[in-house]
Amino acid sequence: MATVETVNGPVDLQELGLTLIHEHFRTTDEATRFQFPHLYDEPAEWEAAISDATAIRGHGVQTVVEPSAMFLQRDAAFSKRVADESGLNVILATGVYTYEHLPQPLLNRTEDQLAEIFVHDIEQGIQGTGIKAAFIKCAADEPGVTPSVEKVHRAAARASLQSGRPIMAHSRPASGTGLEQMRVFGEEGVEPSKVQLAHTGDTDDLDYIERLLDTGCWIGMDRYGLDIFLPTEKRQQTVLALLEKGHADRMFLSQDWCSTLDWFTPEMEEQLKPVAAPNWSMTFLFEQVIPELKERGMTDDQLNQMMVENPKVWLA
Ligand SMILES: [Zn+2]
Repeated sequence: MATVETVNGPVDLQELGLTLIHEHFRTTDEATRFQFPHLYDEPAEWEAAISDATAIRGHGVQTVVEPSAMFLQRDAAFSKRVADESGLNVILATGVYTYEHLPQPLLNRTEDQLAEIFVHDIEQGIQGTGIKAAFIKCAADEPGVTPSVEKVHRAAARASLQSGRPIMAHSRPASGTGLEQMRVFGEEGVEPSKVQLAHTGDTDDLDYIERLLDTGCWIGMDRYGLDIFLPTEKRQQTVLALLEKGHADRMFLSQDWCSTLDWFTPEMEEQLKPVAAPNWSMTFLFEQVIPELKERGMTDDQLNQMMVENPKVWLA
């Protein structure tokens, strides 16, 4: 029977159930944290993570895909603790989340050597835990597909070809990175159906989205609540339009919520949140987005397709 690796070992795909494809239980900068630990409050971070995990369990979520990688403080032991205490399946990635910078140890390695590192996490386990990565993460953002970003994409592609595992690529629709990213994967020979372009829902440009869908990839409508990139109403209209065009079998719904995020000082956060992301949380989908989509015509089958069936197919 087909299984997927979780923080508690392989789980039958049929048992994943309602799945959030893109959420983070903790996102902090690894270097800052290691050097200046006094800036961090571990008990508060744990409290935030477990209270989110418990809240989504209450909404029937059984599985969370947590696409943290290098530079997002992927921490397999922390994620396992969340899974153990909440009863969720948590699925982890390998890879590098960078828009440009690569540290010397990775700069001085070839694409194939980077791919070998990723395959290690898939076959041997992450950070010495034996917890295996189920997919590969990479990113392109405002700087575009720079040489370092391209290197990580090619390494992700090669690791995918060697392991058979899918790729999740953070994208930036505002500058159309998705098509460039798909070009690189295509040149490497990756089957487009292995690739999920995260954050495609940050645009309401249906032409752009349909050009992506024409390549055969999956799209993440996965930042509900991040109004700074696209307000909820526009996200809703876009999802409903794509459902009407018959694309339920290519989309995921999620929020890219981070139970802890250290990018901003507490003062900045207080100023930013009400403007940039007033409703952003790990439960926003269930409290507002899904009920509203249903009222406006989304069927139960379409919802089931996006949040139960698609994760199984992409992860398989
Ligand atoms: Zn994310």
